[in-house]
Parts: sequence; C-alpha cells; structure tokens
Amino acid sequence: MLKSLIIAIVVPACLFALAIFAVPMAAALPQEYSGIRHVAPYVLLGIAMILSLGFNQTRLFFMLLLGTLFLALLLGDAQQLPLIREYSANDMVQPMGIIYPLALIAFLFMQERGLFTYAGLIRLAVVVFMPVAALMWTHPGVSAEMQWLGSRFLPPWLDAHTSLSDAVVLLHLVAMLAVLMRMVLRPGIAAAGFLTLVAGNGLALHVYPSTVAIQLVVSAAALSILFALVRNNFHLAYRDELTGLPTRRSLRDQLLKLGRSYSIAMVDVDHFKRFNDRYGHDVGDQVLKMVAGFLARAGGGCKAYRYGGEEFTLVFSGKQTADAIPHLEALRGAIADARFVVRSKPRPKRKANSKTKARRNASASAGRKQVGIRVSIGVADNHAAGSPEQVVKAADKALYRAKKKGRNRVAT
Ligand code: GH3
Ligand code: MG
Ligand code: MG
Repeated sequence: MLKSLIIAIVVPACLFALAIFAVPMAAALPQEYSGIRHVAPYVLLGIAMILSLGFNQTRLFFMLLLGTLFLALLLGDAQQLPLIREYSANDMVQPMGIIYPLALIAFLFMQERGLFTYAGLIRLAVVVFMPVAALMWTHPGVSAEMQWLGSRFLPPWLDAHTSLSDAVVLLHLVAMLAVLMRMVLRPGIAAAGFLTLVAGNGLALHVYPSTVAIQLVVSAAALSILFALVRNNFHLAYRDELTGLPTRRSLRDQLLKLGRSYSIAMVDVDHFKRFNDRYGHDVGDQVLKMVAGFLARAGGGCKAYRYGGEEFTLVFSGKQTADAIPHLEALRGAIADARFVVRSKPRPKRKANSKTKARRNASASAGRKQVGIRVSIGVADNHAAGSPEQVVKAADKALYRAKKKGRNRVAT
C-alpha cells in the first residue's frame, strides 16, 4: 500500500519535472513540430478517457473530460467553435482555478457510477456545464462580483512564487490533501489519478500564458494517468484483492522462470468450509487474510501465492524438499499456535435451538472471538517430478496425504 502511495506521488512528480525541464527545448524546436505539440495533450487525454471508461473509472473519466474542455478554453482552441463568443483566455485562469479543484473534491467523495446510468448522465451534464459556467464567469459583470476571491491572505512562502490568486492556491492544496487522505484510507486508481489531475491543473494555470509549458504539463499529467491505469489493470490480474498475495496467474509466470532446483508447497486450510458455515463468509475472509499474512512472512526465501479459494502455494527457489520442510513445519506450527481474533457474530442458524442461541449470545457479547486455524501442507521438488506443473501436481498429492493422515501436518 505504501508502495502504491509512493508511486502515485513520484511518477507524476517526475513527469511534471521533466515537462517543465523540457519547455525551453520544446519551444526551440522548429515550427513543424508545433502541430505535434498541439495535438499531443488532446490525444493522450483522449486515450486516458477511453481507458478509464474501459476500466469502469467513470469519475476519473469525468475529471479528464473537464480537464480537456478547460484545456481547449485555456489554449484558445475552443474559440473556433461557432457558439462561443470571443473570450479572453486570460480571464479563464481564475474560474478554472476555482471550479476544477472544487469539482474534483466533489467527485472524490462520490460513489462510482456507470456513465450510462441516471446518475452518470446527470454528472455528465454537470461536467459539460462547468466550462459554460467558467465562460459566464469571465463576463465583466460576474467577474466584478467575484473580485473578493482575488484577495491575498496566505503567508508569502505559499503564494510569492505564483501569480495565481490565493483562493486558487488554497483550493489546490486542500484538494491535494483531501486526495492524499482518501488514498491512505482507500487506495485506488481514482485517487491516484485525481492527485495527478489537481496538481496538473494547478501547474498548467501557474505556467499560463506559456502555451508550450501548458501543453507539456498536460501531456505529462495524461501520461501519468495512463501509467496509473495500466498499472492498476496489471494489479487486478496479478494481485489477489482479498489477501494482497500474487495470484495463480503470477504463479504461472513464475513457474516459467524457475532455476535448476526448486520445491513447491501447496497449503490448504483445514475444515475451512465448516468454519465458513459457523461464522459466515466475512469471518472466513478475515481468516484467509491472516493466513496469507503468515504465508507472506514464511521463512526460507519462499514466495507465496493464492492458488484459489483457501489454497495457497509456496515456491522455494534453490531449495529441495528436505531444505524446505523445516520452514514449512515452522509455518504450520506458527499458524496452529496463533490465536485468530475474529470480529462479528456467528452466523444465525435458521432453526437455532436454545443451546446454539446461548453460544451465539456469549460470543456476540464478547464481540471479538478467538479461533484456532490449522493448515495442511504438501511439498514436492523438481527432482522427484519433471516439469513445474508436475511438481505442483505432486505437491497436491502430498497435500492429499497430509489430509488423510489427520491434517495439521506437512507431508511429502
Ligand atoms: P479440508 O480440511 O479437507 O480442506 O476441508 P475444507 O472444508 O477446508 O475444504 P473444502 O474444499 O470442502 O472447502 C473449502 C471452502 O473454502 C469452500 C468455500 O466456501 C471456502 N472458500 C473458498 N474461497 C473462499 C473465500 O475467498 N472466502 C471464504 N470466506 N471462503 C472461501
Ligand atoms: Mg481446499
Ligand atoms: Mg481446506
């Protein structure tokens, strides 16, 4: 989690730094390149919008759409549209600096909804209205009313280096803080993208009126979001959501990369179905998470995977069965000795008799309950079997023997 937080901050920061660094070079390029520079941010934003819709990130899509519309207004590209009167891009800076972070904070706390739902279409209408509101803001009468937003109130170290108004600086800082808090509480692709967008918006307005700088900053923001979207999709396939362990798909990739000597262990929770039936699926999930925690920390330099359901796989590179067994025994013992504290009540039975009722009440009043969990382990190495798939099969057979012999044991 800390890693994704750092990546969500470092990647856009580096891209933005690179963009600012590249401004003089991009500006010095011959005229022929100005076309590329002009379309690049729109193309990248377009791809990011399509991908975010494809990955069901509608909120991210809306903020990208709003960013694109604002970009067209800021660069003066929108002036070519017949319906839009001549406006001064200069007057757009203040409304965009206020509207964008406010819209972003609002979307941050909204539920994810599909685009083609009632809520989605209303949001689309609101997002499309926002540039209209920004245009209305530039009307002399309205902007005179909004004069008070231009006042200075921040300490100089915050606003001395920018011509943006203090309200704009403050709103961007507040939005970034809100996004960061959200990322800590509920990490995800939307928050990571939002952080880039609010920083990108602030930076693009800050570098105004340099068209080249705006184009580079926005391109950097779009690239960073594309990176986050692709990374997130990769994670969905290769990381198990419940336990955080790599999935069977990454095990399959790992099996192709194994060296000359390795062993593989299959780990299965004992009587897990019974456990689920008694305490409910949610408590079962909690237990799987805790078991996964033990597996992730298992010794011997092994790597843990969630094979599926309540079955896990450990891969020991460079270790034969005999070398792996002490670590597996230690793991089995540690899990058996641990007291798993589970929250929530036992699942109510339809026809509970007085005895089970009493038991349920007892544990419900406790709120937290300690339960014991045991695992059976089967292990095999590539000297006994040939291909990695065969080693997995042999480990599975060994697991079956461990179950037959009475569970809570390691078998070969
Ligand atoms: P054994 O000791 O022979 O392994 O018995 P078992 O009950 O553990 O084995 P069985 O294969 O009969 O049951 C596995 C159960 O694991 C069935 C299923 O409901 C449960 N299960 C699988 N995946 C999950 C999950 O993600 N969460 C929860 N809570 N339960 C799961
Ligand atoms: Mg099983
Ligand atoms: Mg089991």
